[in-house]
Amino acid sequence: MATDKKDIRALTKEQLRDFFVTQGDKAFRGNQVYEWLWQKSAHTFEDMTNVSKETRQMLEDNFVINHIQVDTMQRSSDGTVKNAVRLHDGLIVESVLIPTKTRTTACVSSQVGCSLDCRFCATARLKRMRNLNPDEIYDQVVAIDNESKLYFNRPLSNIVFMGMGEPLMNYNNVIKAIDKITSSEGLGMSPKRITVSTSGVPKMIKKMADDEVKFNLAVSLHSAIDEVRTTIMPFNETFPLKDLKESLEYWYAKTKRKISYEYVVWKGINDTQKDIDAFVKFCKYVPCKVNIIEYNPIDDGEFQQATNEALENYIASLEKNRIVVNVRRSRGKDIDAACGQLANKS
Ligand code: SAH
Repeated sequence: MATDKKDIRALTKEQLRDFFVTQGDKAFRGNQVYEWLWQKSAHTFEDMTNVSKETRQMLEDNFVINHIQVDTMQRSSDGTVKNAVRLHDGLIVESVLIPTKTRTTACVSSQVGCSLDCRFCATARLKRMRNLNPDEIYDQVVAIDNESKLYFNRPLSNIVFMGMGEPLMNYNNVIKAIDKITSSEGLGMSPKRITVSTSGVPKMIKKMADDEVKFNLAVSLHSAIDEVRTTIMPFNETFPLKDLKESLEYWYAKTKRKISYEYVVWKGINDTQKDIDAFVKFCKYVPCKVNIIEYNPIDDGEFQQATNEALENYIASLEKNRIVVNVRRSRGKDIDAACGQLANKS
């Protein structure tokens, strides 16, 4: 629905308080409405039951609440839930709820499509259509928190920015969303339970370090050899490993927090001892842990999961060098909800 009215959630609390004062009301009314918008995640002005009818009408006349809508929800046989989320302009993004015995993790999107061009990722084929606003990111988290309570009787415990998009190419909005998620006026979650994953944008990694962010950093590395990485992640030409390394050293010096590397091993691409040695060397630059991710096929077989033997070789070399390594099995594959499969298919 096209409208000229302003999205009320683009206002800060201060701006909302000022607005009420200009309307001849009390600034305090701004606090009340702010609480409805964020903590209580109201979808309409009608929901704001402790606000007078006249005030609700006045808000209706001036603003809209561009709340996301969960268009379709799919449940995987392994418990994973995927939401296709409709934005106010009709575009769709996807977010995923991943339950384990002890945790519920929300995997959220930061862009419609993606700015980058990783050749093995379904989202990259969509191209970037636009950045998500802070409230659109926040709403995805709230929707998954509600589903977690409904299906698993517990609130959301962790958030990963590993859905569609490159979070560091929409940095300001991602930061604003995380501020709301961690604020007592929002969801009050600890930043320690949030991980932002990047394909590796050195300038922005340094900026995050300068901004003293309190969440965790994951880097989708996939190769520590420039020629190989550029073949599978062409933007590596612009942001080569030397710059990435330098930015990660900067991050660690400032934050003293370990980095996670995401790594897929493909047949004939990065499965030789030379690839392994380069990765082990890269892992020694700053304290880190490694997540080996299972490849989720997205196409005609150009990329194929490496053999178990190749994986074992990676694990053995990493462990020999005392680098912590986890192998992540895919979740939600049957509903195209696994890493790299988010492409608005439905
Ligand atoms: N752009 C950010 C956030 C997306 S996270 C980033 O790249 O980190 C999505 C994760 O899934 C990344 O680690 C990405 O490299 C990985 N991935 C992409 N396509 C995949 C596929 N087909 N199978 C397995 N992992 C994939």
